[in-house]
Amino acid sequence: MTVRALPRHEAERLEAFVRGVTWSELWSHRDEPLDTARFDELVARRLDGEPLAYITGSTGFYGLEIVCGPGVLVPRPETEVLVDVALGLLADIASPTVIDIGTGTGCIALAIATKRPDATVFATESSGAAWLWAERNLADSGVRLVLGDLDDGCPDADLVVANPPYVELGAELPPDVLREPAEALFAGERGLDVIDRIIERLPRHGAVALEIGTPEQASYVASRLPGARIRDDLTVRPRVVSAPCR
Ligand code: GLN
Repeated sequence: MTVRALPRHEAERLEAFVRGVTWSELWSHRDEPLDTARFDELVARRLDGEPLAYITGSTGFYGLEIVCGPGVLVPRPETEVLVDVALGLLADIASPTVIDIGTGTGCIALAIATKRPDATVFATESSGAAWLWAERNLADSGVRLVLGDLDDGCPDADLVVANPPYVELGAELPPDVLREPAEALFAGERGLDVIDRIIERLPRHGAVALEIGTPEQASYVASRLPGARIRDDLTVRPRVVSAPCR
């Protein structure tokens, strides 16, 4: 489950969007007239279940502004932990090769490439709709975007990183999450279908960091990857499993 934002905070984001300023600039623009009709229209869309980031067209991730909209998973704050773990695993490797499987908006690949300009980063995506968002976010980043399944078309890498779909089929999700692409969320009865397929691809790579959704998934993945370590997110739920692959 994703970390939920507060309604007040979301309303401020929408107000800043209508005013054409950033959230931190909002307080110095409050005495200027607000287009309340437009604001009300956006609030109504949000109440109707449209994700905030789809309405504003972007969201913050790891200090970057990531464009997004229908057809792609919205970057989540808890996924920043995955980037932290990935950067930690790369710390002692000069000019590493990294693959971000199922990149979605490209946020993870972009964060890694930004922090490690010496890295060669591949980002794969099998959804054409998501690929178009990744193409925008990754333009001029040096990240190589590959349209395809898992690590197809990528060389052996020092690190494979992924925030795969891991929600169990039939799990109840908030209405805004259900507006996001099902193929980015759901992965079979236990939410493990894509994770299992990724694990099969790992032997030719150096290490892996995977986002997972439940303690049971963390234990399962750790049981399949010798030497695995589990990292919690800021809500103290297990969120990332990392391990050497060979
Ligand atoms: N963390 C997301 C949610 O529960 C799911 C993202 C994913 O499956 N990778 O909303």
